[in-house]
Amino acid sequence: MSGLLKFKPVLMERIWGGSRLKTEWGYESSLDTGLGECWVVSCNELADSEVTEGEYKGKRLSQLWKEEAGIFGEERGKDFPLLVKILDAKENLSLQVHPDDAYAEEHEGCRGKWECWYILDCPENAELLVGNRAKDREDLKRMVEEKRWDDLINRVPVKKGDFIRLDPGTLHAITAGVMLLEVQENSDVTYRVYDYDRLQNGKPRQLHIQQSLDVLRVPDHITTAELIHTGERKNELQLLAATSRVKVWTLSVSGSCRIDVPQWQIASILEGEGSMNGTAVRRGEHLIIPGDCGGLVIEGEMRVNLAQARGG
Ligand code: ZN
Repeated sequence: MSGLLKFKPVLMERIWGGSRLKTEWGYESSLDTGLGECWVVSCNELADSEVTEGEYKGKRLSQLWKEEAGIFGEERGKDFPLLVKILDAKENLSLQVHPDDAYAEEHEGCRGKWECWYILDCPENAELLVGNRAKDREDLKRMVEEKRWDDLINRVPVKKGDFIRLDPGTLHAITAGVMLLEVQENSDVTYRVYDYDRLQNGKPRQLHIQQSLDVLRVPDHITTAELIHTGERKNELQLLAATSRVKVWTLSVSGSCRIDVPQWQIASILEGEGSMNGTAVRRGEHLIIPGDCGGLVIEGEMRVNLAQARGG
C-alpha cells in the first residue's frame, strides 16, 4: 500500500495576478505581487511537481507516473492527465476558449481541454464571464470583428462555494477579485479572444481570433442553472462534474468519514484541517491519493475537492 503524496506548489507570475496566494494561502514566493497562479499538482514541461515528504520525497511526478503502477494503476496513458491550480485574479483575465480533442489534434497536435472552477472567494455581486450570446456563427463573427464584447459575453453571477464546468468551446474569463480552484485536463491549448487591450512588456499579448471563431459553440447561452451551489451536507461526496475524462466531487468533512478509492485521485484541501489516513493535512495542501491505498479515512473539519481522471 502506498502512502499519500504531498507536493511543493509552483507559483506562476501573471500580469493580472495579486498577492493573496502568498498572504492568504501561504504559498512561498520572492515576489509580492503579480502572483496569478499556483500550480499545485502539475506534470508538464512548465512545472513538474516535487514530492515534499514520505518515501518518495524529492521525486518528481513525471517519474512516479512512469514507474509507480501501485499508485496510478497498470492502465494509464503516456501523459499525466490532470492539472490543478489555484488562481488569484486581481484584475480581469483575458477572454478565452479551449478547443475539443478533434480540433486540437488536427491543428495543434495535442489534446483539447476541459476545465472547471470552484469559487474560493469573490466580491459581493461577482460575475464570471461564461458562454456567449451570439445567435449563430455569422452573428458571432460580426460581434468579434466589431469588438462588441458587451453584446457577446454572457455573465453568470457567482458566490463563494459555487462550481461551474467549462466544456471545450465555451467562451470564458475570470473577473477581478475572484479566487478559484481550477481542475483541468493537462493541456495548454488556449485561444485568446480579447485581452482588454493590455500590454505585457510593452506589447499586446497574442490573440487567436480565427481559431476562436472555429471552436466557439453557438448558440451557447449558459444560464445560472448550470452553476452548482455546493452544499453543506457533511461526510458525503457531492458529484460536481463527470465527463468521459474527468470526475470531480466536493466533500465537507466534520468529525470522521471514509471513502472508497477505486482509482488514484487528487485531493485539494480548501478549508480547515485534519488528517487523511493519519497524514496531517491543512488548507492549501494538495495530495495524490494512491489507487492502492485501500480507501481513505478523513478526520477533522475541512472542505476537500476530489478529482479523478477517467479513460486513457
Ligand atoms: Zn480556460
